[in-house]
Amino acid sequence: MLEVKDLHVTVEGSEILKGLSLTVNVGEVHAIMGPNGAGKSTLSAVIAGKDGYEVTQGSITFEGRDVLEMAIEERAQAGMLMGFQYPVEIPGVKNVYLLKAALNAQRAARGEGEIPAPEFMKLVKEKIAQMKMDASFLQRAVNEGFSGGEKKRNEILQMLVLQPKLAMLDEIDSGLDIDAMRIVADGVNSLRDPERAILLVTHYQRLLDYVEPDVVHVLVDGRIVKSGDKNLALELESRGYDWVVEDSAA
Ligand code: ADP
Ligand code: MG
Ligand code: MG
Repeated sequence: MLEVKDLHVTVEGSEILKGLSLTVNVGEVHAIMGPNGAGKSTLSAVIAGKDGYEVTQGSITFEGRDVLEMAIEERAQAGMLMGFQYPVEIPGVKNVYLLKAALNAQRAARGEGEIPAPEFMKLVKEKIAQMKMDASFLQRAVNEGFSGGEKKRNEILQMLVLQPKLAMLDEIDSGLDIDAMRIVADGVNSLRDPERAILLVTHYQRLLDYVEPDVVHVLVDGRIVKSGDKNLALELESRGYDWVVEDSAA
């Protein structure tokens, strides 16, 4: 589904990704782990098409299409969605309108008409209940005054409504207490689907106790230096990242 080959990316003149390769098959959950500053967020941002990243070498393909030739909206419409790809706060724009606009843009790209209002409300109410969010969230401006945990839930809500083919979630566990993390993890688990892939960027292993990845990658200094199964995450938790770096240098 997603194939990243020898990707080199520069941000403001310095090289952040230095030959990163990654293959994600449909139906799989991949965790990207690694120390702070390794380039994890840069990777999902480049795949989603955010501004400010210069690809100097390498390729990204999604379902056989050249992603680097696609504009950010085309990528979203092709089914690649990053959590809060849409701005973190949008003063004055209600959550419910953003969700509806994003869903209708997706439908339009597939040649479908707008979702009927009752159908939309039914869908959103079901998902908001699933995330244990209060219905009043829908009427609030996007993320304005939301706590960290509320933003993360809102991010998963967006995914549950939009149902992307490739869901990219960056540090969705950061700053969450254990109850909020379970809700977020349950939301991610309900996104699991044979027709979907999930890329979970996380610094800590904790989330992976709840969302079991098929593949774990360790990203260090702009490259994936080791990949393995979920046991690799447990090993990182107990041994840290240094041994991976030493092993990969050897
Ligand atoms: P991670 O998510 O693994 O912590 P990031 O992808 O956020 O790492 O960042 C990787 C490196 O790129 C860091 O050294 C960071 O300071 C740098 N970086 C990321 N974004 C920018 C930016 N917009 N401008 C300058 N440097 C950046
Ligand atoms: Mg960082
Ligand atoms: Mg990051």
